[in-house]
Amino acid sequence: MSSRSPEDLAPELREIHIQFIQECKRHGLDIVTICTYRSAADQQKAYDAKLSNCKPGQSKHNLVNAQGKPAAQAFDVGVIRNGKYIGNGKDHDYIAAGKIGEELGLKWAGRWTGKLKEVAHFEL
Ligand SMILES: [Zn+2]
Repeated sequence: MSSRSPEDLAPELREIHIQFIQECKRHGLDIVTICTYRSAADQQKAYDAKLSNCKPGQSKHNLVNAQGKPAAQAFDVGVIRNGKYIGNGKDHDYIAAGKIGEELGLKWAGRWTGKLKEVAHFEL
């Protein structure tokens, strides 16, 4: 299964995630969270579809806590404009959101080089 619930984020990421969404809003960006925790089966699907660089267990989306509950240290976002999801990763709002995430201390996968860039992906 995949989750978009902020409850499935690691506690140390939850607060930053809230700040991130608020800061994006303040900059006029309409950002939605499209994935927080991703199970091993769904990670394999994402890998096979070339939507992720990571095999199951390698992604910070796959992390669980000591009790086995989802505790993802990553989230993916989507840009919304005029009520529509914008899938184009070159859209300026993804770049603007990336910079906001970095200012909050997150790692933004839009910076990654040498492998698949994921402008929608942020992690601790
Ligand atoms: Zn991601």
